[in-house]
Amino acid sequence: MANIANYRRILSEAEACGARLVAVSKQRSVSEIEALYQAGQRDFGENRVQELLLKRQALPDDIRWHFIGRLQRNKVRLIAPFVHLIHSVDSLELALEIDKQALRCGRTIDGLLQFHLAQEPTKSGLDWEEALNLLQSPGFAALEHLRLCGVMTMASLTEDEAQIRSEFARLRTYFEELRRRFFDRDARFSVVSMGMSGDYALALQEGSTLLRIGSSLF
Ligand SMILES: *Cc1c(COP(=O)(O)O)cnc(C)c1O
Repeated sequence: MANIANYRRILSEAEACGARLVAVSKQRSVSEIEALYQAGQRDFGENRVQELLLKRQALPDDIRWHFIGRLQRNKVRLIAPFVHLIHSVDSLELALEIDKQALRCGRTIDGLLQFHLAQEPTKSGLDWEEALNLLQSPGFAALEHLRLCGVMTMASLTEDEAQIRSEFARLRTYFEELRRRFFDRDARFSVVSMGMSGDYALALQEGSTLLRIGSSLF
């Protein structure tokens, strides 16, 4: 069951901060997604390629599909024709593959650099040095069909608000620094994707422009 009251409340909190909302629909049924669609939601996020492909077939064409999970290189070609934003660019190899598949489809694909700022070692993403290396590598400079639009992270799974807040603040700082150093002339480098059901209020306070909310909407 979609929770439309929660949806409207979180959406208005996001909009009050100038942020947008991706409804994370992983493991949710087509009819649950339809209910949010009827309420006006168009941006949905999935973290598994096969599940995304099945849902896309069953749902309206004007949905903007976000990919928010670890993406294997050999699956990029399956989502390249339609994906709206890949939140999980975390290696040069993946960036090269996205670029190649975007070229094959005759389009430009938008992506976010995923950072690993959380305490749990299992979470994926780059650290600052790795991101700099990626952005400064000759291979990356040659890409024309992957357009980096910003950054993404998942905060630590903890009750410690100060810890979560510091991770979000760090992502915002990284975003500003990267924009200054690498994207000065590109207004499209504008996305800070952070904040989930448990921590979105902190994320908005720390400068999120794009929330990824799942469990609270259902
Ligand atoms: C599942 C997921 C979310 C949403 O988490 P909720 O706690 O259900 O809101 C956001 N981002 C990513 C990367 C996820 O995998």
